[in-house]
Amino acid sequence: MSQDLLHMRTAITLAKYALDHEETPVACIFVHSKLNKVIAYGMNGTNESISGISHAEFMGIKQIQEKYGTDPKIFSEIVLYVTVEPCIMCASALKQLGIKKVVFGCGNERFGGNGSILCIHNDTSTNKSNKYVSIPGVLRREAIMLLRYFYVRENDRAPKPRTKKDRKLDKETFPPLQWDKYLTLEEFEEEFGQEFRDAFYSHRDVYDEIDWDLIDTGCDERFLHDLIEQVQSVNCTY
Ligand SMILES: [Zn+2]
Repeated sequence: MSQDLLHMRTAITLAKYALDHEETPVACIFVHSKLNKVIAYGMNGTNESISGISHAEFMGIKQIQEKYGTDPKIFSEIVLYVTVEPCIMCASALKQLGIKKVVFGCGNERFGGNGSILCIHNDTSTNKSNKYVSIPGVLRREAIMLLRYFYVRENDRAPKPRTKKDRKLDKETFPPLQWDKYLTLEEFEEEFGQEFRDAFYSHRDVYDEIDWDLIDTGCDERFLHDLIEQVQSVNCTY
């Protein structure tokens, strides 16, 4: 479990980097599960590329395919850590590539493909032999807060000033997490342990203390530089 937290912290820091660079704060890292190393990363790039499909996951997938070729075998060893639930498009791409597992922070209420809107990860119409487990709720509140920072900032730029109420940054309330939309109790317990079973039924967070330092401290170029160096230094042969 602590490994999952550690990797999600990296994804959150990367999302903060995206936020600081005028992009939607959604980011991900692809971790090779046997090596426990980051082999690719992605940030939302829809603003810079002016393309609606420049999602974080696609950036990482491209990195992997450029380095390791299009042989899909490598994906069966990869756990994806992404701050926001993959959209339907990305969930489907990950399924067709045969990803091992997805861990995400907050749900994607409009486009989520791992339980919020559709359950691509375990449906039977998109390559049923590649079903994968998708774990929600890891640093969920941090992921939500980054999105709130983004929308408050967006509102500031809106041509017509919004009412004060709309612009108020909510740091206190978080929607319930309906775990059973995303995974079974068995999968939940395997991930978080039986002691958190109560959270599953009462739709509570497993991690409910927000790490404000993580999302408020800007990360410098050094962070990205180190991450890129780490990704480039790994070589898994297939
Ligand atoms: Zn997507």
